Amino acid sequence: MGNGLGMGGEGVGHRWDTCATRFGRGKHRGRLGVWHGRIAVPYPDPCMGNSSSSLSRNPGTLLIAGGRVVDPASGFDQVADIAVSNGVITAIGVNLSRSGVDEVVDAAGCMVTPGLIDPHVHLREPGHEYKETIATGTAAAAAGGFTSVCCMPNTSPALDTPETLRFVQERARSTGRARVFAVAAATKNRHGEELAEIGLLDAAGAVAFSDDGDCVPTPGMMQRVLVAVAKTGKVFMQHCQEPTLTRGAAMHAGSVSVRLGLGGWPRIAEELIIERDVMLNRAVGCRYHVQHLSSAGSVEIVRRARAAGQPVTAEASPHHLLLTHTECDGYNTLAKVNPPIREQSDIDAVRGGVADGTITVLATDHAPHSHDEKSLPFEEAPMGMVGLETAFGLYREALIDSGAIGWTRLIELMTVEPAKLCGLDAMGLGKLAVGGPADITVIDTELAWTIDPAEFAGRSRNTPFAGRKVRGRPVATVVGGEVVYSLSRAAMA
Ligand SMILES: [Zn+2]
Repeated sequence: MGNGLGMGGEGVGHRWDTCATRFGRGKHRGRLGVWHGRIAVPYPDPCMGNSSSSLSRNPGTLLIAGGRVVDPASGFDQVADIAVSNGVITAIGVNLSRSGVDEVVDAAGCMVTPGLIDPHVHLREPGHEYKETIATGTAAAAAGGFTSVCCMPNTSPALDTPETLRFVQERARSTGRARVFAVAAATKNRHGEELAEIGLLDAAGAVAFSDDGDCVPTPGMMQRVLVAVAKTGKVFMQHCQEPTLTRGAAMHAGSVSVRLGLGGWPRIAEELIIERDVMLNRAVGCRYHVQHLSSAGSVEIVRRARAAGQPVTAEASPHHLLLTHTECDGYNTLAKVNPPIREQSDIDAVRGGVADGTITVLATDHAPHSHDEKSLPFEEAPMGMVGLETAFGLYREALIDSGAIGWTRLIELMTVEPAKLCGLDAMGLGKLAVGGPADITVIDTELAWTIDPAEFAGRSRNTPFAGRKVRGRPVATVVGGEVVYSLSRAAMA
């Protein structure tokens, strides 16, 4: 089981390059703006930390004018301009000069935040390019306001050697629209049997370790992973799924799985692994992160571990904050995801975990699959859904509109916190600082829109949220001083 593999089949044709436009330079404004060209990111290098990459072009000067600048890292929150030159923020202040500025982004009425960071995405390259590539996945990231993403290692081959990491880094450098940071496998081929070369992978730029898509199944191997990763100071991210309790599982074990006659994935298969790992880690002290937690019991275990002072963090995904297992009715494969969407009491608990600080990170688990794969019978269809382009509106609905948290905390959960988790804060990411990298997202928090997969910049369309009316959407995404995405709000009216 896992969300990286599936049957063959052609992906749905992607359309992101048919409606391109540049933002603010007035060449041709369309509904969707997508920048065409290499990403030019002078600092830090998108893949290799602080080392400088050669510039493909000079990003010039940019002014992001008149937005409400919200930077949770510094506590700055006021209407201001941000000036950018050569990929770096040069000033943040009121009424900055426009003279000599190459490009102005009008952010009036919008929130201007550090570039959003998603610490859990599947870019499918190498090996499953019909689902997504680094180019299309980072186009989707840019369209969702994300300037950095951390990609999981369940590619083919798996990201379990320095060579495969370098492949991803090179592809990101030559084709990416956002920064890509690789999460390396903790065990060879993610099989859970033999430790990967953790030290070499650390040196090659892995920002974290995970066998995501699969759980490190045995306590013996888990202990070795914790000890090895602890030496690097980086974080181990667990896909918490006890394998013998989830054999043949297709959805949440509950009334709907019984009614549909589908194999059930019980909560305890997740909770048992978290409890086990927390116990093992007590003697090790590795930074330990629970991916996409889905059950109320999981939230409680993480809450207790954190209260006891353990270095445990956890993430929540949009679908676990909003959807219940009834979405699978009618054998709707678009709602098939791992771990599964569960019940309202779980949603309430996950939201509660975000509200009280137990869950510190939001992550989409963006998992593209082709139309053909999702057209298979429910039990055979692969697990997972895309998330990058719909995340913001869904987080707003789940967390702001419900009253769970306020805006500053939401932005913190999407910037400062994931940056800390993956060590990107040391590269100046996740915050807005003069002299730091100009990764900036402009968000129209009130924009009402309807999720339409036909508009997606990514290669796959598998979302259970099609047709949902949401509010709040990134309208411009700046990576290293370049506007890599913009949305013309006028054209949406
Ligand atoms: Zn996973």
